[in-house]
Order: sequence, then structure tokens, then C-alpha cells
Amino acid sequence: MLRYLVVKDAARGVAMSYFDSIGVLLMPLLRASLQRWQQQRLRLRLRQQQQYAGVAAIVGAADEGAGTRGGSAKSATCSSEGVVRGDKMWSVQAEAGVMVTLAKLVRWDVAHLSDGRSRSGGMPNPFGVDSLLLAMISFLASGCNSSSLPSLLPLATPAPTAAQQGGDCLVGVGGGEWALAAAVVRRGLGEMADLCGGEALPAIAALSEEMVAFMKRPGSANRMLTGVGSPNGQPVLSATVKLLAVSVFNIVCHCSPAALMAAVPQRTLAAMARLVREVEKRMRRLGGAAANPTVAFDVQQSSGLLSLAVMVLTSDEALRVACVPGWLWGTPRPRGSDDQVDCELQQLSNLTGPDYATTCPIVRVHSTMAASLAGKTWRTDREACWPMVMALARKHLQTQKAFSVGSKVRWWSESFVRRGGGGEGGGEAVWHWPPRSLRLCNNPGCGNFGGASEEELDLKKCRCRAVRYCGPACQKEHWHAGHKAVCM
Ligand SMILES: [Zn+2]
Ligand SMILES: [Zn+2]
Repeated sequence: MLRYLVVKDAARGVAMSYFDSIGVLLMPLLRASLQRWQQQRLRLRLRQQQQYAGVAAIVGAADEGAGTRGGSAKSATCSSEGVVRGDKMWSVQAEAGVMVTLAKLVRWDVAHLSDGRSRSGGMPNPFGVDSLLLAMISFLASGCNSSSLPSLLPLATPAPTAAQQGGDCLVGVGGGEWALAAAVVRRGLGEMADLCGGEALPAIAALSEEMVAFMKRPGSANRMLTGVGSPNGQPVLSATVKLLAVSVFNIVCHCSPAALMAAVPQRTLAAMARLVREVEKRMRRLGGAAANPTVAFDVQQSSGLLSLAVMVLTSDEALRVACVPGWLWGTPRPRGSDDQVDCELQQLSNLTGPDYATTCPIVRVHSTMAASLAGKTWRTDREACWPMVMALARKHLQTQKAFSVGSKVRWWSESFVRRGGGGEGGGEAVWHWPPRSLRLCNNPGCGNFGGASEEELDLKKCRCRAVRYCGPACQKEHWHAGHKAVCM
């Protein structure tokens, strides 16, 4: 029904209120259903262990003293005999398919912003409280919120049982299967977050550009700046800008490097910088910060969030070359004074694609930690100093408590750790981008919203089996748009 409402132009008002209620309800519903699934798994596992205990009693004590290794080998045969069957797999797409539809719709909408076919209409007011695109984007970006999809991750891990803690020969009975099932769920959650963030980032860039264009029209945005329209009585415009900045930060914290690279966060950051600067300009014209304290606060927060986003991107080795290469630099600060961060919004807003190269650092951290960079210059020593800069970014994020490296804020980093450290079930899946476990048409230009959900479209795999399409038209379009180069 939501798919229908979202897709039909006439239902705009209804769809808006649906976003609100779904936004509130979706996560508790997902959490509850995931908990139910885990309970089921737990019961199933206990049953398997009981059956196994029965079998073990017959086999006798011959294997005694074989230790845990023998135990897990036996459990493998036990589970391969298929003693207990019939549990249902939990699928994030079945539970939250609306997010897939929305991601696709936002992508389609943004692609058609300029030709007037966008469902958001002719953009008379792209950042009003009633903007459909803004509502869709914030809903989508909320998937990367730490209280959202990421918070479900702990539910998708097999719980240790008494047997595991006791270390007897029942270790691993049914556990291997469970670990596998949990890995599949985690991969689904990860791909869903990637999809949300991966589509939201370019959409935020497009929306920001749209908003800047709108503000440059004479007389259009002054009212928006001072107008109080949001429920908590804040000026609409600056509150919206801050909301977008929060979204960008959450997305860079929770999406995998592959999804981030594909989404070109540099473009979003530069577009956001232009937007923040435009709001700043308006504010100055309307009497400055003193006359508009709320707006000034929002502007300051937004620019702070953007520099934090740059730091998160910099802190990641996997993104070093691809995203914001060398945007960050540190300056030693005399002992005793507080750490400080400057964000060169002007510099950032001047950057353009495709490589978004800069001639001087965008974000400068003044801290005692940056002492190691003393005597080095950004211009000449950037390449040699990147490990120090990366460490500086991490350290600063930790002291800001914005992002703790050890707290699994970043899901994928957890997967990487597992992959590197071997651990149990060495084949722990690092999720794929574009998503493999989520079913959706991989043609970015796909406008097929038939069926009750994306899952119900008759999707056919490409011969490379990595991507799916809803039909030959989409396959052809995507083939010429670039799949040709990567298809194997
Ligand atoms: Zn399609
Ligand atoms: Zn292919």
C-alpha cells in the first residue's frame, strides 16, 4: 500500500503522513520481529542439542576427551543430517521493503529534478516543511542513524548458550548454522544501510544545489530564514540545513567504504558547504548572528558536522585515496589551550568534480596531538604524513565522542576485523555494493514501480549474477551506462 501511495502523485499528502508514522514505527517493528526470530533460533538450537545429547549417549563415551574440536566436528555431521528443519529466514527486505522502494524513488526523483518529471513537483519551495523530497531523504537517511538499522546489529548475533560457556561437548551444536544465519541477517542489514546512505548522499547533494539556486532568486529566502514553521519553533531553513548535515554525518559513519565511494561524498560535502555559506550570507544581510541566534547556532553546528564528516572519511584507510584525499591537516597547539577545529567552508564550497582536489586543507585541527606534524607542510608532505593525519582524525573523533573506533559504530569495520582475524566462520560476509542480498533492479534509471514491493518484480539476474534487472530495457540501459565495463 505504501508503495502505491508513494508512487501515485495524487497521494502526496497521504504519503507524507505515512513517512512520519512509518518513520516512527519501522524500527520498533523491525526490532520486535528480529527478537522473535532470535527466540525461534534459540528454541531450535536447544532442541538440536537435546537430540544430539540423545545421539551422543548411544554412540557412547568413545569420543570422550576429544575436546572441543571433536565436538564441533560432530555437531557439523549432526546438523548436516538435518535433525531439525523448518525455521524461517529473517529477511530485512521482507520486513522493511519500503526502504528499498523509497531509495529507488528518491534516486528516480533526483534524476528527474530538472526535467519536471520529479514527483516532488516543480520545486517551488524545495526546503519547506511540506517538501516531499526532503521528507523522503530524511526518512532514507534515518536508516543510517545510530538508533536505527545499526542498533539492530547486536540482535543478529548468535547468543551463547549454557553449553558454550560450560565448554562441554555440545559446543557448536546448531551454533554453526545459527552463526551462518546471523551473518546473512547482518549482511542484509548492512546492505540496507548502504542502500539508504548510498542513495541519500547524492540526493542531499542535489537538494542542496536546488536550495542554493532557489535562495539566489531575488526575495525568495529571507522569509524562510526568519520564518518559524517547524514544530519546535525553529527557523525552517537553518533547521533543515542542520538536519541534512546530521544525515551526512550519520551516513559517512555507517556506510561501507564501497558504498561511500560510489556515492561520491565529496560532491555532497561541497554542495552542503555552498548551502551553509548561502544561509550565512542571508543571515548577515538580516542583521547578523546577534539578530538571529538560532540561525547562527544552526550554521555553526552544520559546519561542525561537515568537518566531523571529513574527519570520519579521513580516518578510514580504505577511503584514503578515493574520498577527500588530503582535506585534513593538523597544526600543533601550545600546551594548555583547548583543541580547536577550523573548517574552511569557502574552500570546500569552491571544490568541483570529478576529483574535488584542493590546494589547501579544508579542515584544520589545532591540537597537541598534531605535534608530530610540526615542521611538515600540507603542500609537500601530505603523502608521507597520511598515517599521522589519519591517527589525528581518529583521536579527535574519539575525544569528541563523535565516533569511537572501538565501539563498532561502523558496522563494516566489524566485518573487516572478523575477516582479518579469522575468527569463527572465516567466511564472514563483507557485504557487497551494489547489494546482492537485497533484491532490486540495478539500473539506476529504473522507474518501474509496479508490484506490491520491489521483491515482487520479476527480477532476472545478469549473466555475471552480480546484478538484477526488472527487464531487458533496464538491462540495456545499465549496460550502456557502465555495467559493460564491469560485467564478467
Ligand atoms: Zn528496472
Ligand atoms: Zn553483468
